[in-house]
Formats: sequence, structure tokens, C-alpha cells
Amino acid sequence: MRDDNCIFCKIANGEIPTNAIYEDDGYKVILDMGPATRGHALILPKEHYKNIYEMPADKVGEAFALAKVMADRMTKKLNADGFNIVQNNNEIAGQTVFHFHIHLIPRYEGDGQVIGWKPCDSSPEELASLKELLI
Ligand code: 5GP
Ligand code: ZN
Repeated sequence: MRDDNCIFCKIANGEIPTNAIYEDDGYKVILDMGPATRGHALILPKEHYKNIYEMPADKVGEAFALAKVMADRMTKKLNADGFNIVQNNNEIAGQTVFHFHIHLIPRYEGDGQVIGWKPCDSSPEELASLKELLI
């Protein structure tokens, strides 16, 4: 299914030209137009899913299996020193385009990028109660 108002649907299905570095029946991998680092790419499913919650688990698995293949290939070809795989869901988590996508971000010594979070305090009691909630 596609969403006529979605830019990533248009890109993934070839209605808008892009720099694709991989394509198969289900996915297109494109270069991000605002790259965090050299080679930053996005895995786009051709079908429209707003986020991970809307996407069936087998498709999510497929997309992450592709992320593994791309991470190997991009790390080698770009001579990267490491790799971040990032996937944002909903505005609070940094999602700005509401079509599921996986960021592939090659990392280089001294690239100066910060991708992460600020660790907060926690207590053994809090962690134990969270474990009970989430198990
Ligand atoms: P999000 O913040 O939703 O996780 O990531 C959206 C990403 O898509 C951003 O890194 C942004 O630079 C990229 N992006 C947004 N629009 C376009 C576009 O039209 N073409 C390309 N190649 N990348 C885009
Ligand atoms: Zn879409």
C-alpha cells in the first residue's frame, strides 16, 4: 500500500529521482540528502508503513537483515571505522518523515558526530520494578 502524499513512497517507487545505492522488489536504499556522515543512507520499504508499530514483524526483520548486508558493504567500500543503525518512531523520538526507514550511518574516526543519549540516574529498585512491568 502507498500513501499519495508521502515523499518516501514517491522516492521508493521511482516517482521522484534519487541516488539509490541498492534496490530490490521490496526496498530501495537511498543516500540521505542531509547526511550525518559521508555515505549516510536510508533503507525505505516500497510499501508505506508510518512507523515500526504499523509494520508487520516479518517485514521489520527483512529490513534489518538488509541493514546488516548494507552495513558490511558500506563499511568496506567507504573504509569506515564503525557504523550506527538508527530507526526513529514518532516525533518525540526524532522521526520527521512518517514512512518507516532505517538510517545507515557510517562512522569515521574524528567525524565529530554525536548520535546517542544522555544517561540518566536509576536505582536497583526502579530497574527491578521495570523488569516486572516489561517481562
Ligand atoms: P527521520 O528524522 O524521520 O528519522 O529521518 C528523515 C531523514 O530523511 C533525514 O535524515 C533527512 O535528511 C532525510 N530526508 C528527508 N527528505 C528527504 C528527501 O527528499 N530525499 C532524501 N534523500 N533524504 C531525505
Ligand atoms: Zn510512504
